[in-house]
Amino acid sequence: MQTNFTAEQLEDPGTARANEILRKCVHCGFCTATCPSYAVLGDELDSPRGRIYLIKDMLENDRPADEKTVKHIDRCLSCLACMTTCPSGVHYMHLVDHARDHIEKTYTRPWHDRALRWMLRQILPYPGRFRVAMMGAKLAKPFRPLVPGKLGAMLDIAPPRIEAPARHDDPQVHPAEGPRKGRVALMTGCAQRVLDAEINGATIRLLTRLGHDVVISEGIGCCGALTHHMGKTTDSHASAEANIRAWTREMDGEGLDAVIINTSGCGTTVKDYGYMLRHTAMAEDAARVSAITRDISEFLDPEAIASRTRKPQMKIAYHAACSLQHGQKVTQAPKKLLKAAGFAVVEPAESHLCCGSAGTYNLLQPKIATELKHRKVGHIEATRPEAVAAGNIGCIMQIGTGTDIPVLHTVQMLDWATGGPRPAKLPEAVAAG
Ligand code: SF4
Ligand code: SF4
Repeated sequence: MQTNFTAEQLEDPGTARANEILRKCVHCGFCTATCPSYAVLGDELDSPRGRIYLIKDMLENDRPADEKTVKHIDRCLSCLACMTTCPSGVHYMHLVDHARDHIEKTYTRPWHDRALRWMLRQILPYPGRFRVAMMGAKLAKPFRPLVPGKLGAMLDIAPPRIEAPARHDDPQVHPAEGPRKGRVALMTGCAQRVLDAEINGATIRLLTRLGHDVVISEGIGCCGALTHHMGKTTDSHASAEANIRAWTREMDGEGLDAVIINTSGCGTTVKDYGYMLRHTAMAEDAARVSAITRDISEFLDPEAIASRTRKPQMKIAYHAACSLQHGQKVTQAPKKLLKAAGFAVVEPAESHLCCGSAGTYNLLQPKIATELKHRKVGHIEATRPEAVAAGNIGCIMQIGTGTDIPVLHTVQMLDWATGGPRPAKLPEAVAAG
């Protein structure tokens, strides 16, 4: 695609990068075929190609974002299916992130939208505040039919039980069982530890059982994805910097083999820290952290799982989270691990398509998100699984509100198969081995 930025515009590193990305697009439109917002809305401006044109026009003309551009960029799920499909290597993620930053700097949203986004930024990245908010949402749930739109969508995510904070998430070292094979840091996350504390519990058990010391570093917090996708660059950089400081202390101290992430939405962001902070004083440390960051499913060894499994007789539908399959290109590892554990793994149709969760998307765009959820659940139920496994808490919550089939994290299934307790979501009648 031809672009017409001036030399002065290109002095800004963000614009220079946007220019590089735009020039790679050849307008072929292949990406429209796998874009979930285009699949639901059928409007070219809600496709990757349409959004690329809107962003190009906004940036080239150096104009503030307008209502039309914001509407169509806001409807993008950042699922990154377009990046998997694009034959020209267009880095849509970096382009749309830059566009969102520009939108936040130049556009004034209606007051109710600003208030909602402010509230999400003040609550979701902080487990203590989020826990209180979920308790309130749980109390308000009986009145759900009376609460429409975005507020109603928030009540939907409240889990039936809200546990007290799990002590395994406190700063400490969980020692390896048996001979020590390595030392890893675990990102404990923010929303996930409130919505389902057992995911970190299962991850820690599994890693220590397989011989790894698991470090929960002092000072870690939200990865910054939530504010990053809202265009709040200063906030997202502050979150990233806190994590980088914590993990580089470990790397320079006793050393780390990997930073392990069990929420793939966070993993995509942590793996991009090196890019996000490339023009800051922390660039080098950010790149070091990104280089050793692994999704838990990338890190685990299928042979180690196979050697310990009780071979549960169970049919599982594997749901590929967008952040894992498109954001990190991790597609086979989770299925290999589940199969190594002895599960019969089925893959629902349209597995490339987002379930509608997409960070805060199901709260900010509930209609489109709900349509995508029903489409996803329909495909999953058609495979008649006994449970669903996924690698991202957002997907687990989103799909879980649309079906009675238990939806669990992949590590919960692997932990259970290799000696851990039966996950509470699985019916008691189900037995491992
Ligand atoms: S990130 Fe997803 S929703 Fe956004 S344009 Fe790409 S495919 Fe469409
Ligand atoms: S598939 Fe890639 S090159 Fe083709 S229109 Fe989409 S982004 Fe552009």
